[in-house]
Amino acid sequence: MSAITFTEGILTSVRPCRNRPPAIHPGQAKRAGTARGVLIAAILVGLVLLLPLTGADAASPGSGGAHLAVHFIDVGQGDSILVQAPSGKTMLVDGGPVDASDRLIAYLKAQKVSRIDVLVATHPHADHIGGLIEVLRTFVVGLVVDSGKVHTTATYERFLTLIDQKNIRFRLGRAGDTIDLGPGLDVRILHPSEPLPENMNDCSVVIRLQYGKVGFLLTGDAETEAENAILRSGADVHATVLKVAHHGSRTSSSPWFLKAVKPVVAVIPVGAGNPYGHPHRITLLNLADYMDRVYRADLDGDVVVTTDGTTFQVDAARSRP
Ligand SMILES: [Zn+2]
Repeated sequence: MSAITFTEGILTSVRPCRNRPPAIHPGQAKRAGTARGVLIAAILVGLVLLLPLTGADAASPGSGGAHLAVHFIDVGQGDSILVQAPSGKTMLVDGGPVDASDRLIAYLKAQKVSRIDVLVATHPHADHIGGLIEVLRTFVVGLVVDSGKVHTTATYERFLTLIDQKNIRFRLGRAGDTIDLGPGLDVRILHPSEPLPENMNDCSVVIRLQYGKVGFLLTGDAETEAENAILRSGADVHATVLKVAHHGSRTSSSPWFLKAVKPVVAVIPVGAGNPYGHPHRITLLNLADYMDRVYRADLDGDVVVTTDGTTFQVDAARSRP
C-alpha cells in the first residue's frame, strides 16, 4: 500500500494508506439477441419523454477547505469511478462488468455511500454498465445520465427497465450540460453531441470536474474521433488527473489530445491478463511524456485521489514490488 502527496503536482510526502478491499474476478456480461433493440429503443424514448430534462446547474464557488475524493475502483477490465463531492453528494461513473458487482457494492458500502445522487453510464458496453444493475437494485439513485446510444443487449435492457421501474430521473448527457454536485465543484459534460457517432466507444459521456486548481477528466472509452471532436469544440480539457480512455487502448489518448490535457496523474482501469493487450505500449509511451508513473488497476488496485482544491494526494491500494 502506498500514498503520494502532491502540492500542485510536486511530490511532498509518502505515507501508508487505507485497507484494500478483496480482489475480484473480472468477466463479461452476456449479450442478447437483436429483436431486443426495438424494446430498448422504446424504453429509452419513454424515459426521455416521461422524465423532464433538467437544465444546466451551475456550481457555486468556494467551499471552505472541504475535500473532493475521486475513487478509481478496481473492477478488473472495466471502469467504475466514485466521486465524493465536498458537499457530500456522490456521483458514480460506470459500474464495471457484472462479475465485479459484489466487489463494487462492497466498496461503495465501505465508503459509507447510502445514496448515489448522480449515476452516469458513459456508454452501454458491458464492462461499464454490467455492475450498475446491482447498484440500481442496492442504492437510492437520484438521477441517471446516459449516452442515449442504444445497445441491443440484455444488460442494457435490464439497466433501462430498472430505471423505469424505480421511476428514477433520467437525462441524456450532452456536451455543454453541467451536473450539480454542490458548491465549489464544477462538473461539465464535454461529449457527446448530436448526432451521435457510429462507434459506440466514441459516444462515451466525457466529464470534466474542476475543484479549485485541480481538474479531473473522465473519458469513458472515448477514442480518437471523440477526442478530436472535443478539441474541435474548443472545450477546456486541461486536467491534473486523467482517467485514461478505453483501458489504455492505442485507439485513444492521441498525442495531441494528451498535449491539450497535460495530465500530472493518469489512471488506467485495466484488468490483469486481459485478452485485448490493454494498456497498449504506445499509450504508455505517450503518457510517459507527462509523468514517471502511471497508475493501473491491474498493478495498483483501487486508486483514490483526494484534493482540497490546491494540493492533492494519490492513494494506491497495492504497493508495487
Ligand atoms: Zn470499456
